[in-house]
Amino acid sequence: MHKLLNARLTLTGVGRFFGSDKRFPAAKLIRRGLVSADHGDSSKNEVFDVIISGGGMVGSAMTCSLGMDPNLAGKKILLLEAGNRKVMDTVPSSYSTRVSSISPGSASLLSGLGAWEHITNMRFKPYQKMQVWDACSDALITFDKDNLQDEMAYIVENDIIVAALTKQLDALDGSVQVRYRSRVVKYTWPTSYQSTESIPWVQVTLDSGEKLQAKLLIGADGPNSMVRKALGIPTVKWNYDQSAVVAVLHLSEPTENVVAWQRFLPTGPIAMLPLSDTESSLVWSTSHRLAEELLEMDEESFVDAINSAFWSNDHQSELIDTAGSVFRGALSALMPSAGSPRQLPPSVAAIGPKSRVMFPLGMGHASEYTRHRVALIGDAAHRVHPLAGQGANLGFGDVSCLTQLLSQAAFDGKDLGALQHLLEYETERQRHNLPMMAAIDLMKRLYSTSAAPAVLLRTFGLQATNMLPALKEQIMAFASK
Ligand SMILES: Cc1cc2nc3c(=O)[nH]c(=O)nc-3n(C[C@H](O)[C@H](O)[C@H](O)COP(=O)(O)OP(=O)(O)OC[C@H]3O[C@@H](n4cnc5c(N)ncnc54)[C@H](O)[C@@H]3O)c2cc1C
Repeated sequence: MHKLLNARLTLTGVGRFFGSDKRFPAAKLIRRGLVSADHGDSSKNEVFDVIISGGGMVGSAMTCSLGMDPNLAGKKILLLEAGNRKVMDTVPSSYSTRVSSISPGSASLLSGLGAWEHITNMRFKPYQKMQVWDACSDALITFDKDNLQDEMAYIVENDIIVAALTKQLDALDGSVQVRYRSRVVKYTWPTSYQSTESIPWVQVTLDSGEKLQAKLLIGADGPNSMVRKALGIPTVKWNYDQSAVVAVLHLSEPTENVVAWQRFLPTGPIAMLPLSDTESSLVWSTSHRLAEELLEMDEESFVDAINSAFWSNDHQSELIDTAGSVFRGALSALMPSAGSPRQLPPSVAAIGPKSRVMFPLGMGHASEYTRHRVALIGDAAHRVHPLAGQGANLGFGDVSCLTQLLSQAAFDGKDLGALQHLLEYETERQRHNLPMMAAIDLMKRLYSTSAAPAVLLRTFGLQATNMLPALKEQIMAFASK
């Protein structure tokens, strides 16, 4: 109990910054989330130990992870997904525009679930190095492993990740149930936290009218999470004044293509992520207006705009360049062997068919990830700007952590939906997610200006960091979890 209180108190300051901390407004909660009319006749009220609402990358991984845990054997576990079942008998010839940079930590989770083998059999691209540089100065930073044979991360299409997890869910053969095209339209919360009434569980109503019950509900229903909203969990969120334009790019000539490139323009970062020797994936975060223009351009102008965004020096000034090179010179004198040389990104020749799509970007953080009998994971709990490629990775981290705690709870014969261990999950994950989210948000802000003082600050900061291998190692270790 003491530990629990500590855990909650430790996070109170951070939680207050990211949202108020009103706990247990039970009566209010019960009335929330009433979206559709009752369909009493078709209600079955089947009770599950765990229901996972939302079968995207994170919810599917969660279901697999629980279904494979030996301590949870015999538990009734159900995944509900509003969309269709995503299987992939053959890998499509063209790449999808939706890809994720998967960290080694996430890859090892997926490997433990048996999904990584399917991914490597389908399609993925490891990369060994990352170069990040500023369009307003000469400053750059590179991240790579000491041994360039080691992989920094992997680019995988989101559909392939879900298809691989779906294969594993099929292979679990009855230890979990999965229902596709099953949208939850209403959640009803237990009436009392100490309730001994006959139905003290979370009630889930499907669009078919069917009612189910869960001793633990896991909300994995994405950034607009109905679970989070229905619980009334205070959420700090804002829309960035940016949208991301994504596309599949054909490179001018074949290359080894093992570097992830990101350049910070004053309007937002543009990233080129390797898919194969001849193709890369574009994630261009920019103002809504420019994003719309990019979508409407003819293909040739779009390709010119991408090449110019990576190559042009229009945003640089003599003052910043001089200050930057003096600073770099001084650092090199102190640490002659530190830093790494600038590499040039490949140029783009064309884009894939029907491959330009745009997504509005935002940040969101639920001040609580748990309530009695409920836990939030993935984008339902936290949404970040894609500039660090961390959204899905944070979600996979949630999956590892929550599985561990639920497995232990089951081993100890505890109630899976009890707040005690759910709070441990919240504390552990907020300790990891909040610093990452704050760093991403700070980067987004620091790089959204071409004002000289900010450019100088980030030029010096980036150059100094680039010269400090130990610091870079720490950044990589944190991002690769
Ligand atoms: C342009 C862009 C680039 C990105 N790049 C990266 C990257 O490189 N690396 C990275 O780690 N992350 C990246 N991300 C973030 C990543 O895509 C998200 O963090 C991730 O998709 C979140 O997964 P999720 O399963 O939590 O949510 P979602 O993918 O939103 O899945 C939620 C699921 O819940 C289902 N659902 C919703 N409501 C209901 C309901 N009522 N009933 C039943 N089912 C429901 C939906 O159908 C959906 O399948 C990027 C994001 C963007 C926009």
